[in-house]
Amino acid sequence: MAAATSVREIDVEVVDVSVVSVVMGSAYPSQCADATATPLMRENVGMSTSQSGALTNLLLLGRGQDLESERGVSCTGDLPEASDPDLISRAKIARAALGNRALVLGHHYQRDEVIAFADITGDSFKLAQAAEQSTAEYIIFCGVHFMAESADILTSTNQKVILPDLAAGCSMADMATANQVQECWSQLSALGIADKTIPVTYMNSSAAIKSFTGENGGTICTSSNAKQSMEWALSKGEKILFLPDQHLGRNTAVLSLGLSLSDCVLWNPWKPMGGLTADQLRAAKVILWRGHCSVHGRFTVDAVNEVRNRLPGVKVLVHPECQHDVVSIADVVGSTEVIIRTVKQSPAGSKWAIGTELNLVSRLGKTHPDKEIVFLDKTVCYCSTMNRIDLPHLVWAMESLVAGHVVNQIKVAPDIARFSKLALEQMLAL
Ligand code: SF4
Repeated sequence: MAAATSVREIDVEVVDVSVVSVVMGSAYPSQCADATATPLMRENVGMSTSQSGALTNLLLLGRGQDLESERGVSCTGDLPEASDPDLISRAKIARAALGNRALVLGHHYQRDEVIAFADITGDSFKLAQAAEQSTAEYIIFCGVHFMAESADILTSTNQKVILPDLAAGCSMADMATANQVQECWSQLSALGIADKTIPVTYMNSSAAIKSFTGENGGTICTSSNAKQSMEWALSKGEKILFLPDQHLGRNTAVLSLGLSLSDCVLWNPWKPMGGLTADQLRAAKVILWRGHCSVHGRFTVDAVNEVRNRLPGVKVLVHPECQHDVVSIADVVGSTEVIIRTVKQSPAGSKWAIGTELNLVSRLGKTHPDKEIVFLDKTVCYCSTMNRIDLPHLVWAMESLVAGHVVNQIKVAPDIARFSKLALEQMLAL
């Protein structure tokens, strides 16, 4: 897909926290910084700056033992000040200078100031398709690390995928490491059930996990096609190993495929044999990985009940990464694309309490002033890693490219890319 030939007129709207506060009745709280902490991150919180060496920006992501996966690097060069009054004009000039050579992709959870410069907006599935179809030399991916990896796998070798801030990771993706998954598979092999098990891996995973999936005859899925992916897997094998989001796996198995909760078991990578018995693993139809999204995992049944009491007639619309008890009592469940479409198609005056990332909910509120849109949580919380991409980083990345310097390129090693591509292509073929 060709990039825009010129920069369209852009009215950049800097994120207005006061609007959010009105909708949510709360200001951006400091505890949001912890919201995406994984067990691994929490384990590492005690590490001091002096222990981290050069990894000053990502202390929480590791101990400095696995530099490849920790991705904790600072932006080199001159990152513009966020207060630079010329930031928007600099962005327009750099974007115009890049022209068709660049395609800017913006995930729905990005800040407004970044979305304003996106040629295409979408969820991870739509953006993966857009990257695959693009011929642009540079794909500037305003999303998180695993999305940029998928884009690199799906694009040709002469295209370069840029992530404006390398620290834009995903806590869910970090909850399944390649070693942990390999260990799980070895245990399933020892029990004689690996050859009956098809891996189904959510897009929100590292390239290494996608590679494992492709190598073992599985498929990638997104929240849009999880049902088809799991049906396909059960037509090929007797069991599914679903990685890394337990909630999407459980919700799809029970609410879309008609399996029971007892057909699903939860593999805890921090316990011997996943904390399960051989009999439990043999009996299970779906082995769920113990991972979750720290943003969607926040929504609770209490929050659903509270908003229904407070706003009579409100409909609750949630993402399938939410917990099963929340999804079970929601009025509508769907991917970010479904959420956007549902609100757009609803009549004026309708009321929606939405359980997904706050940037998107806030934007929906501004785009549909004729509807009442509220956030399904009392506490305001963004995806903090997604929010690392801001206008200064985007300007820095674009200006660097204009100057001939390729910065923050995401490149997946060929041996990992080979099987990852197999798994991604299997998904696109579903
Ligand atoms: S919203 Fe959740 S799954 Fe999506 S990037 Fe953020 S932490 Fe990861």
